[in-house]
Amino acid sequence: MKNISITKNLPFFIVLMFSIFSFVIVVAKSIFNSSDNSKSIILVIGDGMGLPIITAYDYYKSEYKNHGYSNFSKFDGSFLVRTRSEDYVITDSAAGATAFATGIRVQNYQVGVMKNGSRIPTIMDIAKNHGKSTGIVVECTLTHATPAAFYSFSKSRSDDDAIARQLIYSNIDIAIGGGFGIFQPYIRELERKGYKVIYGEEKLDKMVRSNEDFEKLIAFTAKKHPPKYKERKIDLASKTKYVLSRLSKNRKGFFLMVEASQIDWYGHENKLMEQLDEMEDLDKLLDVVISYQNLNPNTLVLVVSDHDCGGLTLIDKKANRFSPEFKVNYSSDYHTAEHIVGFYKGFIKPKPIIDNTEVYNLMYEYIR
Ligand SMILES: [Zn+2]
Repeated sequence: MKNISITKNLPFFIVLMFSIFSFVIVVAKSIFNSSDNSKSIILVIGDGMGLPIITAYDYYKSEYKNHGYSNFSKFDGSFLVRTRSEDYVITDSAAGATAFATGIRVQNYQVGVMKNGSRIPTIMDIAKNHGKSTGIVVECTLTHATPAAFYSFSKSRSDDDAIARQLIYSNIDIAIGGGFGIFQPYIRELERKGYKVIYGEEKLDKMVRSNEDFEKLIAFTAKKHPPKYKERKIDLASKTKYVLSRLSKNRKGFFLMVEASQIDWYGHENKLMEQLDEMEDLDKLLDVVISYQNLNPNTLVLVVSDHDCGGLTLIDKKANRFSPEFKVNYSSDYHTAEHIVGFYKGFIKPKPIIDNTEVYNLMYEYIR
């Protein structure tokens, strides 16, 4: 047998080793990328949900309702978020949501970002570009500041008509929220775009109960804003469970934003009991998304708030347990500047205090 001398054939062996090495890298990369590509994100926003209302709800659920602590305790970890906008220390929901959606701080009342004549992509656009499905579930109109920041651009959050028109071309797969009145002139256009459009909580409830399938869905739960929690016929948890069952059909994953929109409104009105009710709706939703993540670890669940609202303090020094009668003080009828608490479940490691724009970075790094 002929002897092969390595020294003599050194250039050949170098080329061979390099080829084998390159092949291994390509295979490893393709395996890594294909698993990467199936990642999903569930972003839950508690509008106006500062730490005091989380505290109040945590005690309310365990000491008054005797249902144990809130589902916040089931997350992997938490972090603080600086909430300021570009022009003010106290943000509004438009600038707050834009920071989460685009990673850019804008002035209060502005939703989305326009640069060089075109809208800069939101995290939802980026998910779409990666072949993922997208969805929004809210308890306000679909054109309200928080949802709007994920699919539209407007100098003014109150320009409902311009924002509504942008939803039609956003290519979103599922949107559930109020605002049928605003979208009424565009229903035909939505249907032409392939959406099943329904109006009314009862109709949605029927769809959810019968687990009805659809290609793309826009469901309006109210003409304007949906009513408060106690008057809503279908809770965030049921809606989200239904939406997850549809979005998760996409093997490339999905991006879903769910907002407990009205915690903020009762913060403005300084109504503790209504705030606790809205927190209960959110807590039940958390149970759904945590269970989903347990079964689908390739999903990142983030819970954040855009800002605190009302400046609630819990001051009852005589109470030995929490109840709706617990003495509290609200120091404002608007948002306040405190950092908010964010919670995560999934494979990320956020720093202890981050800017609201970095919430976008966490999501972008996760799915890019
Ligand atoms: Zn507000």
